[in-house]
Amino acid sequence: MDGHPALRACFRAPIPEIAQAAALLDAAVTAHLRGQAAQAEAWIRQADMPAVAAWVESILGRNSPYAVIRPAPAPRLAGAPRVPARMPSAQERCQLHARDGFHCRFCGIPVIRQEVRERIRRAYPQALRWGKRNAERHAAFFALWAQYDHLLPHALGGGNELSNMVITCAACNYGRGGYTLAEAGLAHPLEQPPVRSAWDGLERFGRAPPAVGTDAVLPQ
Ligand SMILES: [Zn+2]
Repeated sequence: MDGHPALRACFRAPIPEIAQAAALLDAAVTAHLRGQAAQAEAWIRQADMPAVAAWVESILGRNSPYAVIRPAPAPRLAGAPRVPARMPSAQERCQLHARDGFHCRFCGIPVIRQEVRERIRRAYPQALRWGKRNAERHAAFFALWAQYDHLLPHALGGGNELSNMVITCAACNYGRGGYTLAEAGLAHPLEQPPVRSAWDGLERFGRAPPAVGTDAVLPQ
C-alpha cells in the first residue's frame, strides 16, 4: 500500500451514548403519541448528553484528530467558477431514504430529518434547544441530523444522482467538508450495505394526532 493508511469506514466509531440517546428519543416520541407529554419532555432532555456533543465536536471541530485529511488534498483549480451547492430535491431525498433508510452510510448511527426535528421542537421548544452555534444545539438532535452528502463534492463536479449521494450524520458530512473520499481516507460507503433497524427516524411524530392520554383525563 506504499505506506498509505488503510481506508476506513468512518472518521470515528460511534460511542455507546449515541445509541442510548437515540433510544431515549424513540421512547420520548412513543410517550408523546400516548399523550404523556411530561415524560416525553423529560426523555428529550435526558438525551441531550454532553458525551454525544463531545463526540460530534471531536470529528467536525477545528483540528479534529479523527477527520485529519491525509495525504494532503489535491490542489483545486484557482479561479474555477463557483458552482452553488445544489440541495437534492424532495423527490431525490425521498429516494435516498428509500435506499439508505435512516442511518448514516459511513458510521451507521441513526439520523433524523430536519423537518421532523422542527415538528418536535415546536411541541417541546424548551427541551429541544436549537441555536445558531453548535454548543447551543441539543446534542442528540445535532449528532443525528440527517445530511444529504455528495460523495464527489459538488464543487468538484459531483451531481445529485443517487450513485453520488448518501445519507449521513452531521459529523461524517461536515468532518469531510469539500474533500474527496480518497483524500479523507474513507472507503466508498456504497460498497457496504446500509444499516437496517427498527429506527424510523422518528418520522411517526406529528403524522397522526396524539392519542388522549390518561394524564389528560380529569377526575370526575
Ligand atoms: Zn456518520
